[in-house]
Amino acid sequence: MRRTVFNEDHEAFRETIRAFIEAEVVPVYDEWYAAGQVPRDFYYKLGELGIFGIEVPEEYGGAGEESFKYQAVLYEETARAGVSFGGSGVHVALCLPYLLAYGTEEQKKRWLPDFVSGAAMYAIAMTEPGTGSDLAGMKTTAKRSEDGTHYVLNGAKTFITGGVHADRVIVCARTAAPTPEDRRHGISLFVVDTASPGYSVGRKLDKLGLKTSDTAELAFVDVKVPAEDLLGEEHKGFSYLGQNLPQERLGIAFGAYAQAASAVRFAKAYVQERTVFGKTVASFQNTKFELAACQAEVDAAQAVADRALEAHDLGELTAAEAASAKLFCTEVAHRVIDRCLQLHGGYGYMNEYPIARLYADNRVNRIYGGTSEVMKSIIAKSMGL
Ligand SMILES: Cc1cc2nc3c(=O)[nH]c(=O)nc-3n(C[C@H](O)[C@H](O)[C@H](O)COP(=O)(O)OP(=O)(O)OC[C@H]3O[C@@H](n4cnc5c(N)ncnc54)[C@H](O)[C@@H]3O)c2cc1C
Repeated sequence: MRRTVFNEDHEAFRETIRAFIEAEVVPVYDEWYAAGQVPRDFYYKLGELGIFGIEVPEEYGGAGEESFKYQAVLYEETARAGVSFGGSGVHVALCLPYLLAYGTEEQKKRWLPDFVSGAAMYAIAMTEPGTGSDLAGMKTTAKRSEDGTHYVLNGAKTFITGGVHADRVIVCARTAAPTPEDRRHGISLFVVDTASPGYSVGRKLDKLGLKTSDTAELAFVDVKVPAEDLLGEEHKGFSYLGQNLPQERLGIAFGAYAQAASAVRFAKAYVQERTVFGKTVASFQNTKFELAACQAEVDAAQAVADRALEAHDLGELTAAEAASAKLFCTEVAHRVIDRCLQLHGGYGYMNEYPIARLYADNRVNRIYGGTSEVMKSIIAKSMGL
């Protein structure tokens, strides 16, 4: 089916990104993979290319685009090449909306130019060792000083994407205890400078996939956060998370669908080359049926992802619709990538083949940004259940 979601500008952007990946990423990707992270300098390159500034208003050094479609193109092109840009997706697709929506004029002037150039990389820290799905249960505290000039941050976060490289982290912390009526009350967001005394990065976590993304533990011991680095209003953090998680989930849905599409391409190329019992693997009816079934699932996921993207750009994507898109696209990707790996036989299990990396990278899509079970809870609630 002809897609209507992208226009000429998006396609021109796609060409630029595709050429950039071919020239700057593919030749060195194995080194990044072995090192377990992308080099810090790469983020400056992304800044120069203008990727970080697409949705930043012009007065702060960006291009002033309001559409999320350029990010969607990035998801498609990185998946197509079987590569990842490390923590940069979190920097743009997750952190930027908070800065734009809740930052004051003074904060935007202070933070956004460095955000755009890549001089300051951002991460977001919600999850704690004791709480992930149930964010209202977070224990990290930020206590306001008596004179009101600063907060004192104490606690720990885990699984933080981009946590090693980050220069500033949007930290969610309790500024007040929950009330009996509202467990979500009393959470606030802070933009914390990672060079602050008392701030430390713990282990860079060894993951099943997403090897080039630096996922880390963070610890805060009496970190002094200036009052002017509170993001938005005190105690309202949970509602800010609620407003921004749909975009995060849309991004994951899009990335997952794109990975599934890529898996079909990889598998199709492989089975046409590989000979077994004197015939190509592609010639077996089972292979044709498997790939046809996978393609049908990818087409359906693409339609859902495209529709959700349009709805998001129009400001109409609800939390339940974003959850539904994430649930559907990530579950499709899980099935499709597994079947495509199977068609590779033993080679599909070898990390030198992109399908193996895709298999490992994709697994987390059903977990982060809210698990599939949490997505089902959100959808069920919207159904009045
Ligand atoms: C690679 C990676 C990168 C990440 N990056 C970030 C990041 O940058 N920033 C950040 O803040 N977090 C990040 N996370 C954390 C991620 O969002 C959490 O792992 C996720 O929300 C799940 O939380 P949890 O791991 O604590 O699992 P738990 O909440 O302990 O869940 C365990 C199991 O219980 C199930 N469960 C939970 N609640 C319910 C329920 N109500 N009903 C039924 N089943 C339920 C879950 O679905 C899951 O199967 C990342 C995680 C990973 C793996």
